[in-house]
Amino acid sequence: MNLFVRLLRLGRFTLAAGAALLTPALAADYPTRTITMIVPFAAGGPTDVIARIVAQHMSTTLGQAIVIENVVGAGGTTATTRAARATPDGYTLITGHMGTHAAAVPLYPKLAYHPTKDFEPVSLLAGTPILILARSDFPAKDLREFVTYVKASGDKLNQAHAGVGSVSHVSCQLLKSVLDIKPTGVPFNGTGPAMNALVGKQVDFMCDQIVNAVPQINGGTIKAYAIATPDRNASQPDLPTTTEGGLPAFKAQAWNAIFAPKGTPAPIVATLNAAAVKALDDPGVRKRLLDLGSVIPEPAERTPEALGKLVEAEIAKWTPVLRDAAAN
Ligand code: ASP
Repeated sequence: MNLFVRLLRLGRFTLAAGAALLTPALAADYPTRTITMIVPFAAGGPTDVIARIVAQHMSTTLGQAIVIENVVGAGGTTATTRAARATPDGYTLITGHMGTHAAAVPLYPKLAYHPTKDFEPVSLLAGTPILILARSDFPAKDLREFVTYVKASGDKLNQAHAGVGSVSHVSCQLLKSVLDIKPTGVPFNGTGPAMNALVGKQVDFMCDQIVNAVPQINGGTIKAYAIATPDRNASQPDLPTTTEGGLPAFKAQAWNAIFAPKGTPAPIVATLNAAAVKALDDPGVRKRLLDLGSVIPEPAERTPEALGKLVEAEIAKWTPVLRDAAAN
């Protein structure tokens, strides 16, 4: 082990030990200043939208502002690395998701953090079904025609995503393997900008979290072919499931959740969890999340322990699927 790595490890140990010693004072007063919530993708995308809706309510409960900081790059792993290395004092948090805290593990052999070893789970915020979306003039009227068209198009079609390991990348990796297709991947810093490109017809299709698509589907600026969950979603009752559309093998639902750096004192994690749970029970917050198609977690799914188990299960689920997947 070289000196740098040793110093880094020592530094981490010291931070964690220091936080533990300060626990009673920190926890009693927390929070006394602004909290930073890192969002690992561009503003306007699903992670950003969910983080902002929940953080706004949490900040009222906590009596301190929560500032959203969008840190983009490498499918969300740049920001997640930064969050993992932040001081574990409750003042730097991250809204991660199925990509940053599960799928990135098999896709990045040199990932600079581990979702379970370097984070304290705080609370699951939302389940987000995956939709198959295309530009508004895409020449297919339903999912069956979409499948026929993409299979016949080889690498001529452009598939937008938010970087290797992002939800939009990983879920379309699954779609690509089910259909045995090889479109050309086009990475963006989040599916906010990817959606702009889809609306502008600069890319052909993408797979994304429903939260990002509902306003555009309702506005008629993109086409939605199917929702990849067993049941239809109340926010888009006319959108068929992939099973109804003849593609039962493609099922995908992502999720977003709050994490704190490892070593954040347990009472602070509990305070944050309580504020997130309160937000998820608020009728205004619920309406905003449900209108965008989110699935609000049940109370038993909102505990730090439940989120920790979800992360472990998701890493186990995605690792064999993605280990050998081409980073397209
Ligand atoms: N939905 C994006 C993804 O593919 C992330 C985002 O922009 O929130 O991971």
